[in-house]
Amino acid sequence: MSHKAVFLDKDGTLVDDVPYNVNPDRIVLTAGVLAALQQLQQAGYLLIVITNQSGVARGFFPESALAVVWLKLQSLFASAGVVLTDFYYCPHHPEGLIQPYAIACQCRKPQPGLLLQAAQDHDIDLSQSWMIGDILHDVAAGREAGCRTILLDNGNETEWDLTPARSPHFQVHCWADVAQTILTQLVTDPLPQPPALMLP
Ligand SMILES: [Mg+2]
Ligand SMILES: [Zn+2]
Repeated sequence: MSHKAVFLDKDGTLVDDVPYNVNPDRIVLTAGVLAALQQLQQAGYLLIVITNQSGVARGFFPESALAVVWLKLQSLFASAGVVLTDFYYCPHHPEGLIQPYAIACQCRKPQPGLLLQAAQDHDIDLSQSWMIGDILHDVAAGREAGCRTILLDNGNETEWDLTPARSPHFQVHCWADVAQTILTQLVTDPLPQPPALMLP
């Protein structure tokens, strides 16, 4: 039987956004995240990070620094009994400086490559899974992969390029509402239409 998952953007969603940070001492979880993830884990969802890390391609930090970030997240989660199943990152950027990372790839969100890889690796049914992020690139990647999507609107999205492919299924302002939304939404329910005001 396939698993279901909640895919989690990292910067600005799981942790306070500190641009290009890989210092574990500066990794701070966002408000309410552990309680929400406890509930989702309890409901049988795997929890998997899906993150763009173009700092590698830009030469700001080595790819190996991301292993430390992953470990730090695991330990923060473990303090609340939450298991982080896996951690997928895109180290690329087409305008990067460092080879072989300076490429246009299939895994940098809004592309769905990391979600598709995670689904393959962990036998995940994407149609029963969710992508949570703080910007519309996260939503676009989740939709393209066939997931339901929630925009955790905390002010980090500023462009609001709301085409249908980038419109979140749900938009909330806190982690408690993320958990509540997922736990009360049956996957057999029809997908909600984007509200009229969100159409371009
Ligand atoms: Mg983010
Ligand atoms: Zn990539």
